[in-house]
Amino acid sequence: MLTKTKIYLSSPHMGGSEQKFVKEAFDTNWVAPLGPNVDGFEKEIQHYLGNNSQVAVLSSGTAAIHIALQLLGVSKGDEVLCQSFTFSASANPIIYQGAAPVFIDSESDTWNISPELLEIAIKDRIEKYKKPKAIIAVHLYGMPYKANEINAISRKYEIPVIEDSAEAFGSNYYNTACGTLSDIGVLSFNGNKIITTSGGGALITSNLDLKTKAVFLSTQARDNKPHYEHSSIGFNYRMSNVLAGIGRGQMEVLDERVAARRNNFNFYKKNLSKYKSISFLEEPDGFFSNRWLTCIKTSSFELREQLRLALLEEDIESRPLWKPMHMQPVFKDCLHFADGTSEELFERGLSLPSGSNLNQEDLDRILNIISKTPNL
Ligand SMILES: *Cc1c(COP(=O)(O)O)cnc(C)c1O
Repeated sequence: MLTKTKIYLSSPHMGGSEQKFVKEAFDTNWVAPLGPNVDGFEKEIQHYLGNNSQVAVLSSGTAAIHIALQLLGVSKGDEVLCQSFTFSASANPIIYQGAAPVFIDSESDTWNISPELLEIAIKDRIEKYKKPKAIIAVHLYGMPYKANEINAISRKYEIPVIEDSAEAFGSNYYNTACGTLSDIGVLSFNGNKIITTSGGGALITSNLDLKTKAVFLSTQARDNKPHYEHSSIGFNYRMSNVLAGIGRGQMEVLDERVAARRNNFNFYKKNLSKYKSISFLEEPDGFFSNRWLTCIKTSSFELREQLRLALLEEDIESRPLWKPMHMQPVFKDCLHFADGTSEELFERGLSLPSGSNLNQEDLDRILNIISKTPNL
């Protein structure tokens, strides 16, 4: 009997030349968190992003957010505003710094941080003598947040923005690359992301001094002395030269990966839009999403679960949308400014298989299961 293979939500997709770069690292014995692949990968990302970006590649996107908070001087007792509808890694580093997250709900055009709620929160915190130290905004699922509005608020109240672009490498906003729209940007190269180094991340800034400081902090904060001298606390967060080799291979196919993911989205939309119980997130004018994951919003929790379980039955992985941080047990005591938008998305939303390595047969198989679901 023919057994069907499992279809994953988003699995690694190698381009072909990754092993050449990894082999070079071995052949030249650059098996360390520095070397030509680290330099090369950083230059290639800088070239791709443009906009005067300076890039430091690190061990993960989470590490990049942690370093970004340190660069902005976030420390014990501070408050940091953070998009609630996101993966927990956006918020966890706030706690690493001994600071407190204040969660902000999303708006319905992009599913990202609401400028209105953000400003309400800032006014409230300033009134209570707790002016926030930073804003963490997220281009969730690859869709850019409303950067003009968020940057205007950032300037008005002089609060810097950390741009969590972990899911949005290859996305852009009015032709400016996501990751370069704010004070400090963050990328992730985790195994499920649009390109991967198995694990890894990057910090992006237009300020070379900040990049230098990020590299300093992520390589144990060693002062410039012949012996080991330390005047600040450092971290071991630099990317390995071996993994940067995988990244260099992946950079060669990034645009193809974006095209393939957008193709998945268009396929699902073309074939599922006829069902009134399913809707898709459109790109507002000037917004370009890499469509990292194709997400649908269904008409009810029951239908969402019916779809998810029908796919699971056929060994097809799908997943409810991110559970908002203000609903997470670990953050239950944190302040939040919410209006129900992300709670509804969590209740009724589903991410469909979205890998760039899905073939037409896979997509047809998924569509067939969804289309057979009663009460669509
Ligand atoms: C993946 C992800 C991160 C963390 O990146 P890692 O490289 O896995 O540490 C942060 N924020 C968002 C929104 C993510 O999806």
